[in-house]
Amino acid sequence: MLHIDGTEGEGGGQVLRTALALSVVTRTAIRIEGIRGKRKKPGMQRQHLTCVQAAATVSEAEVRGAGLDSQTLDFTPQSIRAGNYRFSIGTAGSATLVLQTILPALLSADAPSTAHITGGTHNPLAPPYDFVEKAFAPLLRRMGADVKLRILRHGFMPSGGGSLVAEVAPCKQFSALDLRQCGSKKPWRARVLLSKLPDEIGAKQLDHLLDRFEKRRLSFDATSLERVEADDAGNALLLELPHGDLCEVLCAYGERGTRAEQLADRVATEALILSSADVPVGPFLADQLLLPMALAGGGVFRTVEPTLHATTNARLIERFLPVAFTFAKDPQKQGAYFVTCEKRG
Ligand code: ATP
Repeated sequence: MLHIDGTEGEGGGQVLRTALALSVVTRTAIRIEGIRGKRKKPGMQRQHLTCVQAAATVSEAEVRGAGLDSQTLDFTPQSIRAGNYRFSIGTAGSATLVLQTILPALLSADAPSTAHITGGTHNPLAPPYDFVEKAFAPLLRRMGADVKLRILRHGFMPSGGGSLVAEVAPCKQFSALDLRQCGSKKPWRARVLLSKLPDEIGAKQLDHLLDRFEKRRLSFDATSLERVEADDAGNALLLELPHGDLCEVLCAYGERGTRAEQLADRVATEALILSSADVPVGPFLADQLLLPMALAGGGVFRTVEPTLHATTNARLIERFLPVAFTFAKDPQKQGAYFVTCEKRG
């Protein structure tokens, strides 16, 4: 049994999700202690518990310690079963993070699967659905995986109620990713999603964003204001940065008390950092790409300064798979880093 300290490094939910995903794919029994030990309210919340239940379902695992607020989990996977699955978080906990947990397993199954996940599709501190669809999934496809995604309903804080569907075909072997350069850059696109809130809110956010970019003479393609169906009021400002056949997706959420200028500034600043470092991979994509890269047995990408999420994930993945990650500054470009994954031994 592999023992994992959930308080290590970033010490949040990602340690649990990566450990579950790799436990299933490598059929390694694990014990995790100190789950989300660095969070104010440690232990599993609804999203994490659903991740455990989903991982257990697809791998027929024996599980001990799965409960709300639990900080210790024993998880022993058996075999991966393809199937038609439905998982419901019951809160606005992130549906995309549940998908992230079981995707490697479904890709390693011996037949196609469908996963229908209900919860939050657009909530802070998690990948928005649009990021998974437009930034993450195309990279998986480039690596040889066949993953199709659909959003059926949007889910915002506090009650969620959104749902997404993933159709996943088995992938025998991932090919290594080489993402050192951006593809030919295309004009940026801004979108505002609005549920149960007036259009003026979104129009103001788009105006401010355009203002910031016009001052810097950045090329901008289109903006759109999209009304979406959801249980709660919700507002997301999304900025897509396409290059070649890939795309980065940045996101910020409107909340009571956050002015349109602040929201637009937040997204604009992130975009300008990526654009001046001239890297194809943003900070969130960076931590999420490590696991598929490790399954491919190698690869390299250029990104901005690695986050604690990324370095923690790398060290954890190295405990399951015979790979080693290195993070090195790009000597040619301030603010850019190379992340390399190589086979060990
Ligand atoms: P915790 O409450 O323990 O922090 P968590 O389970 O919500 O738990 P983290 O461990 O912090 O999550 O992991 C969050 C994940 O969401 C990371 O993989 C991160 O890259 C991703 N993420 C956060 N914000 C974004 C964003 N705006 N776009 C894409 N991905 C994001």
